[in-house]
Formats: sequence, C-alpha cells, structure tokens
Amino acid sequence: TTIKMGLFGAGGELVEKWEIPTDTTNDGANILKDISEAVHAKLDEKAIDASRVEGIGIGIPGPVNSQGVVNHCVNLGWGVVPVARDLEKLSGFPVMAGNDANVAAMGEAFIGAGKDAESTVMITLGTGVGAGIVIDGKILAGHNGAAGECGHIHVNDDETEACGCGNHGCLEQYASATGIVRMANRMLADSDEASSLRDIDEFTSKDVFDAAKNGDEFAKKVVHEVCEILGKAIAKICNVVNPEMVVIGGGVSNAGDRLTQPLTQKVKKNTFSADEIGIPPILTARCGDDAGIIGAA
Ligand code: ZN
Repeated sequence: TTIKMGLFGAGGELVEKWEIPTDTTNDGANILKDISEAVHAKLDEKAIDASRVEGIGIGIPGPVNSQGVVNHCVNLGWGVVPVARDLEKLSGFPVMAGNDANVAAMGEAFIGAGKDAESTVMITLGTGVGAGIVIDGKILAGHNGAAGECGHIHVNDDETEACGCGNHGCLEQYASATGIVRMANRMLADSDEASSLRDIDEFTSKDVFDAAKNGDEFAKKVVHEVCEILGKAIAKICNVVNPEMVVIGGGVSNAGDRLTQPLTQKVKKNTFSADEIGIPPILTARCGDDAGIIGAA
C-alpha cells in the first residue's frame, strides 16, 4: 500500500523519513519510476547535490537474488524484475536490493537489538511471519533469494486450511497476528470454557495477550500454545544457524515479556548447545517500523 522512504547520512543516521503510495496499476510498472522521482524530489528539497549520494538501498516483499533481481512479487504484480539495474538506470545512482524481511533484519542487526551481535535471526510477527538471518554481518539470501522464509516452516501435519503459500501447516498459520486469532477462535469453538474473548467481536492478537495478562485462563492457554509452536520452530532455526541472539519484531512483539519469557524456556529446552550460555537470548526489536529503511540503507 505504501513505500516507506528514508534519507540517511553517511554514518547511517536517519535524517528524514516519508512515504509515497504504491501504484500497483499496470502490474506495478510505475513503482520504480515513482521511487526515483521521490528520491530526486527530496534531494531538490534538501538542496543535496547528486554527487553526494552514495546510493539507494531497497527492500522488496519477494525473493531477491544477490544481483538484485526479484523473482515474482505477488503484492506488486511483478514477475521477474531486475530491480537494482532498472532503478540504477532511472535514478542514476548505484542500487542494492534485498528482500524486505531480510533488510529489516539488517536494520535490527546494525543499530537495533542486534547491534552488538555478529549473527542475528530476526523474526517478524505481523500479518504473516517474516524472517531474516544475518550471519557474520551479512544477510543469508540463499541460492535464489528465498532463504529465511521461516514463516513457512512446517509445524503441523494435520492442518486442513491452506497457508498463503499453498502448503498446509506453516508456522505463519499459528504465530502471525492473524494466525493467533485463527487459533484462538478454533480453540474457543472446541471448548465451552468461559473467556473474556467471547465478549469481543472480532478480537485481535493483542486482545488475546491482554486477556492473558488480565488472568483469563483460556487466553493463557492460547498464548501457551502459540509459544509452544513458535518456540519449537525457533529452536530448529537455532540448531541450524546458532545465532548470537534472536530478535522478535512486528506488532505481536509488543506483548514483550509475555511472549519472550515462555519462548526462551521453550528454546532452552529444544535447542542443542554445548553449554547453557550457548542458548541465544530472545529479545524484542527496537527499530519498529524503521527497521526496513535502516537495513536497506
Ligand atoms: Zn506457508
């Protein structure tokens, strides 16, 4: 719906941020042109000479390979688009492109919760579940840009509903904001237990965590279930990546300790480690909505 833009100083400091609407008409053909024009308009407004611009970084909601080529971005209507090359031609600046969840992880790794870590796994719990893996300061993009798709880790063989990706039983179906609500509604339908959630029309994941905080026993069970499923998935990721820390971002991470404490217990229980110190701490993100533009920059 919107393209978040940021002007950064050479040291990575955010000077100004703004947004422009995403024009998805005509299969998103105008998007890169709109971005280039917005960049040049901002330089004019700030009287910044083009010679002082080092380049443009961009995060895109789809798989991006190391050459900056996007391989299908459904939300924008794009097929295979050489984003870095096209935006370089349009803007006249060097361009680096990455996946949006990956650049958000970069943002947290650079100046957020992972600032002092070399290797960070960031998991974003929003409408879906996104993730980015930073190893030794570099994003793990994978062979064709699809590394770190942790939202589609398979966690349930018995799921009947399909995930957005077409598979059944992906992590995203239980641990995203929408997944938590879906699971709570299912558990409510299967139980006659009293819960304050029954009095709320179309409750949100925040309502579930708030109810649990206020002592609602049923909501506590939902939170427990979410943390069991998510914790097991994080433990699997940790067994493969062995990160220094795990950062949880996105709207659901506002639950803070009520999410990270049970997750930490679960991850401790299910992660291989040579010693107790080797289990990565689970922290909440610090850059908020700015993680993406910071990481892209
Ligand atoms: Zn999926």
